[in-house]
Amino acid sequence: MLMNLSDFLLELLRQPGVSGAEIQTRDFLVPWWQPLADELLVSPIGTLTAWRRGTAPPPRQRILFAAHLDTIGMMVSQVEGEFLHMAPIGGLDPRVLPGQPVTVWAKEAPLPGLLVAPPDRLLPPENRGKPVPLSHLLIDLGLTARQVARRVRIGDRVTFAQPPQMFGQETIVGPGLDNRASIAALTLALEALQGRTHTWDAYFAATVQEEENLGGAKTIAYELRPHVAVAVDVSFATGPGVGEDKGVPLGEGVLLGFGPNIHPKVHQAMKAVADRLEIPYTIDYLPTHSGTDAMALQIAAAGAATMVLSIPLRYMHTPVEMVSLKDIRRAGRLLAEFVVALDEQDETWPSWEDEA
Ligand SMILES: [Zn+2]
Repeated sequence: MLMNLSDFLLELLRQPGVSGAEIQTRDFLVPWWQPLADELLVSPIGTLTAWRRGTAPPPRQRILFAAHLDTIGMMVSQVEGEFLHMAPIGGLDPRVLPGQPVTVWAKEAPLPGLLVAPPDRLLPPENRGKPVPLSHLLIDLGLTARQVARRVRIGDRVTFAQPPQMFGQETIVGPGLDNRASIAALTLALEALQGRTHTWDAYFAATVQEEENLGGAKTIAYELRPHVAVAVDVSFATGPGVGEDKGVPLGEGVLLGFGPNIHPKVHQAMKAVADRLEIPYTIDYLPTHSGTDAMALQIAAAGAATMVLSIPLRYMHTPVEMVSLKDIRRAGRLLAEFVVALDEQDETWPSWEDEA
């Protein structure tokens, strides 16, 4: 079954999956990835990996693609009568939180709630007229204190309940597109590789805990020891406050990372494939770290030659992230063709000494 990209993503975005609580989302992904892989692997901390075997005689070269499955969110930190206090998981923007619908993933059943702020004039003087810090926000479940005490536990995860939706044919909006847009790209790449052969072993990993500690990427790279590892993530698209110097236009192509977190040979090779396929791209200059799973992929075990492929996204780390499906399709196609293009590389590729 070939997936319908928007239907698949809308359903994927409805799954919870705050860092450290990704099991439900992984279970959603399994039936999609199972028929596209020779084998599915689940790591001790929960990363799901689809393995497509290469055709070269073993020991084969290995490439790993990593897209994080987890999202930002919150955790209940205190129950106070009818209301809940919460702590952030990942980077949250307090300016956009008051009034947001949320889901509290209580043990018995998920509960709908609202993030609410106290009246401005009742805040401590230093907080008035400013975004309310997370420590002063509360969750209202519309339940009595007794009902809340019975159902909610400290540690319950909280996700944004803003419903994902399509704006027109090609633009999707919703919480968690960072980084489920890239999970969709990996799924498209797996589909595109059906019926094709490649000499390298190709691993497609939905990593856990990226928003907190890059733990999924670090451990799967340690386990699989890839020669080449590519983080697939989102990056800033142009929009309010993000000019052409800081982002790239939505729907006009992918970003190819370049900098110390990127192996120059892998960068060049991916760029050559994009050129051949006429996939539009912008070079994403990353002079420090990349802020992605590639940071962990590069230095796990003895290290791997890394690359970062990014999909432009607006309103990062808010409940209304926005991505163009066109860019997701481009990323998926580029990844699949990159695997096949590796056939032309010999087993010494790539080493830093190779750098042209
Ligand atoms: Zn991300």
